[in-house]
Amino acid sequence: MNGMTRREREITDINEIIKILDESKVLHLGMVDGDEPYVVPMNYGYTLENGKLTIWLHGAKRGRKLDVIRANPKVFFEMECGITPFEGEVACKYGITYASVMGRGIAEIVEDIEIKKSALSFLMKTQTGKDFEFDDKLAEVVSIIRIDVAEFTAKHRPAPKKG
Ligand SMILES: Cc1cc2nc3c(=O)[nH]c(=O)nc-3n(C[C@H](O)[C@H](O)[C@H](O)COP(=O)(O)OP(=O)(O)OC[C@H]3O[C@@H](n4cnc5c(N)ncnc54)[C@H](O)[C@@H]3O)c2cc1C
Repeated sequence: MNGMTRREREITDINEIIKILDESKVLHLGMVDGDEPYVVPMNYGYTLENGKLTIWLHGAKRGRKLDVIRANPKVFFEMECGITPFEGEVACKYGITYASVMGRGIAEIVEDIEIKKSALSFLMKTQTGKDFEFDDKLAEVVSIIRIDVAEFTAKHRPAPKKG
């Protein structure tokens, strides 16, 4: 990916990145539908093993995003948290705090029932912080998308110092 503008806002500490992944609840999934961009907001789960980030999504078994991914599995994603607007003395000093993660990867529609059940547990863990178990029946009625993340970056904008 390109180098980041406002480099001082980049986050490289993996513990800080984990906080953003835990706190954000909605991921914006960017896809390429033929020659058009297509973006879908979704809840997500993640796993991070030996620095390898994997994202887990669930949804209906039909629809445009599944068709798009089957045709072109290259995806880009973004999630953010810590959104608080702040005021300034002039319009250009207004702003918003945020922390965000973005990355690119390859999406795959998972068919293995055991992996689908694990994916739903990962999703619920990220969304609620709680452990849930799923049976075959529940896993069969949803589609699961796994994103193998090739590269990701994180950035934040803290609130401006007062005075
Ligand atoms: C905060 C949030 C969290 C969500 N979490 C999930 C999730 O975890 N899993 C999940 O499957 N879905 C989730 N959704 C719904 C998701 O955004 C899509 O609507 C859904 O996944 C269907 O996508 P699709 O590509 O199959 O669309 P289709 O149903 O095939 O849609 C066809 C067309 O409908 C329109 N459309 C589809 N979705 C939306 C939308 N959200 N807003 C406006 N127009 C739309 C678009 O024009 C699209 O081209 C969430 C939505 C929001 C806002």
